[in-house]
Amino acid sequence: MPNLSHAEKAALDRVTDAPMLAQVQQWAAVNSGSRNLQGLAEMAGLLADAFAALPGDVTLLDPAPVDAVAADGRVDLIAHGRHLHLAVRPDAPVRLLLTGHMDTVFGIDHPFQKQRWQEPGILNGPGVADMKGGIAVMLAALLALEGGPETPNFGYDVVINSDEEVGSPSSAALLRRIAMGKAAAFTYEPALPDGTLAGARAGSGNFSIIVTGRSAHAGRNPQDGRNALVAAADLALRLKRGSGSGFSCNPARIDGGGPNNVVPDHAILRVNFRPRSAEDERAARDLLDRTIADIAHEHDVELHCHGGFGRPPKPMDERTGRLFDLVRRCGADLGVPIAWRDTGGVCDGNNIAACGIAVVDTMGVRGGSIHSDAEFLIADSLVERARLSTLTLMRVAHEKI
Ligand SMILES: [Zn+2]
Repeated sequence: MPNLSHAEKAALDRVTDAPMLAQVQQWAAVNSGSRNLQGLAEMAGLLADAFAALPGDVTLLDPAPVDAVAADGRVDLIAHGRHLHLAVRPDAPVRLLLTGHMDTVFGIDHPFQKQRWQEPGILNGPGVADMKGGIAVMLAALLALEGGPETPNFGYDVVINSDEEVGSPSSAALLRRIAMGKAAAFTYEPALPDGTLAGARAGSGNFSIIVTGRSAHAGRNPQDGRNALVAAADLALRLKRGSGSGFSCNPARIDGGGPNNVVPDHAILRVNFRPRSAEDERAARDLLDRTIADIAHEHDVELHCHGGFGRPPKPMDERTGRLFDLVRRCGADLGVPIAWRDTGGVCDGNNIAACGIAVVDTMGVRGGSIHSDAEFLIADSLVERARLSTLTLMRVAHEKI
C-alpha cells in the first residue's frame, strides 16, 4: 500500500483487532423493532456502553413528540425510543457527523429473530447488515482513530437514532440541529453485496388524507349522503394519474367504510410519493393540494391532509460528488474498488443532505436482502469497511470538502 502515510498505516493496523463480529451478534440478538420500546432501551444501553470507550460523553436524548392518523381518523401520539448522541472535541476547527440507527424493521412479534451462519462467512440475522453491522464498523473506525499516540485533528458527533425505519419522525430535528456546521457526514447503512454505494436518492413523502362525508340510508335517501369512500378512491386514482417521470405515487391503503346499507361518511387514503428533485417534490405537493381541493368541491366532502415529505431528495451535487470521490480514492489505496449508483430508497442521508452537508450514507457493511428474513452480512466486510472508514475520516479532515 504505497500511498499510505505512516500514521494512516498505524491507524489501519489498529482496526484488525476490533471486536466487530461479536458486537454484531450481541446486538442482533436484541429485538429492536422501531416500535419495541423495551428492546430499544436495551439496545441503547448496550450502545451507550460500547461508545463510552470513545472520548466525550454519551447521552440518550428523549424523542420529539410525533402523531399519526389511526384507522378511525383520530390523531394519536406515537411513542419512540431514545436517541444516542456523542460529541467529541466540539471545538475542533473541522467537525464531522456520523450517524446510524439502532432500530430494525422486525417487530417483537416478527418470526425472524435468530441468527445463523448461512454458509461460512455469511451471517443471516435481523439487523446484522441494516445496521448493527454498520454501527460496529463506525465504532471500530473511531476507536482506531482515537487509539493512536496523537489526538485526531478533527471533532465529530455521533447520532444513533431509534426511529429511522419509520422515517425518523422523532429524530429529524435532532439530526438537523447536529448536522449544522459539519464539514461532511457519513451514515452507516449497508452497501450492496459487491460493495456498491448508494449515490443520489429520491425523496419520500407519506400522507394520510382523512375524508369526511355524510352518512345516509343506502336505500331510502342515498342522495342525502356524501360517500367518503368513493371520494377517497377518486382521489387515489387522480393522484396516481397525475404522477409522472419526476415523481412516483403509490396509493397504498384506504381505511374506512361500514355496513352495506349505509353511505360511508369516513375514509382515510394513505399515499406515498417519491420525487427525484426538490422541484419534483413541489410538483407532487401541488398535485396533492389541487386534487384535494377538486375532490372537496366535486364530492361535497371535507378533506384533511396529514403528513409531509419527511425525506427530501438527495441529488448528487458537486460537493457530494467530491466526497464520494474521496471515498473512492481511499478505497483504491486499500485495494477496495468503490462504485456507486442511484436508488429510490431513502434514509437519514436524505435529511442530512437537505441541510447542505455532503454525505455518503452507505459506509456500513456489505450485505443484502435487508428488510426480509434473508438479511445477511458478509462478515469479511466488517474489517474491510472499518478500514475504509478509518482512512476516509483521516483524510476528509485534511481536504476541503
Ligand atoms: Zn437502515
